[in-house]
Amino acid sequence: MILAHLDLDAFFAAVEELEDPELRERPLIVGGDPHGRGVVATANYHARRFGIQSAMSCAEALRRCSHATFVRPRHSVYREYSRSVWSTVRGVVPTVERTGLDEGYLDLGEVAGDFLAARAVAEAVQTAVRAATSLSCSIGVAPAKVVAKVASDRRKPGGLTVVVPGSEARFLAPLAVRKLPGVGPKADERLRVAGIATCGELAALNDEELRGLLPGKVGKLLRDRARGIDTRGLELGTERISISVEETFERDLTDREQLHDELRRMAREVAEHLRKSGKTARTVTTKLRYTDFSIRSRSTTLRVAIDDAETIAELACGLLDRALEDRPGALRLAGVGVSGLVAYHQLALDADWAAPFQDVRA
Ligand SMILES: [Mg+2]
Repeated sequence: MILAHLDLDAFFAAVEELEDPELRERPLIVGGDPHGRGVVATANYHARRFGIQSAMSCAEALRRCSHATFVRPRHSVYREYSRSVWSTVRGVVPTVERTGLDEGYLDLGEVAGDFLAARAVAEAVQTAVRAATSLSCSIGVAPAKVVAKVASDRRKPGGLTVVVPGSEARFLAPLAVRKLPGVGPKADERLRVAGIATCGELAALNDEELRGLLPGKVGKLLRDRARGIDTRGLELGTERISISVEETFERDLTDREQLHDELRRMAREVAEHLRKSGKTARTVTTKLRYTDFSIRSRSTTLRVAIDDAETIAELACGLLDRALEDRPGALRLAGVGVSGLVAYHQLALDADWAAPFQDVRA
């Protein structure tokens, strides 16, 4: 697995700074009433220099920094920014598990063959998010969710930390146990009392020692995590609404004939999958990834569902040609997909399949 965890930097505060640039130069706290029982939702980096953190009471924050500006959270505004961040991210990495407005996991394995390429994709994501929204994010890249999550927090703001396979345990070892997701205040306290302060010390406990401190499944789970072991994949919807085949080329391709050959081969594979699932499709999509990792896709929707390789190939090649007219360039990946799936019996043996009634551009 090659996963990334993306976390927007001081998200609520960063949005408020964009909406009112005057806030940028001073300590800013998004949260409740500092004269009541409010707590800090997010503090900007100026405020953090005064030791102000999320979940601290606003009264305490005011004590630490009497000239801080306090603003109330505006969740509908944050949702708008979040939407645009995640649609930008999906433009670079299609498979994403959002875990919050400001964080989520990305399946980099789908778009990068190794960790070197994964680093480049992660940088492309950061650049794209900044270009689209002016927001900065930090990313951790790792072979496991828990490691990626910890890594995204290492070099905030705007950081990128890549933990290559085999170095997970070494990366985690010096970090405080409470940095591990899943270690709550209670577990942290029990471990601390027993002299276990770092992930490395937790990872080194034998079964017996572990049972004494954190009995049951939780202990084993946390020790696994401290060792960088975490087999969880991304949690995604399971309903099959499309079938697609794509390929990252061994070297970037510009030759039209060669690209058409590749698409024809993929179209045959797609048709094969379609037939096996007893479905036909009304929409054909061609996906292109350029050498700068940006993605274009073009679709055509037909009046009548199809399932034969030649038709899919012909449409896919036409879409590719049009996309390359719009934006010429070498491709590192191309793909053919079908969607709008319908059961086979609905297939009408009609000759006018080729008349598109809708042209969609993404
Ligand atoms: Mg965040």
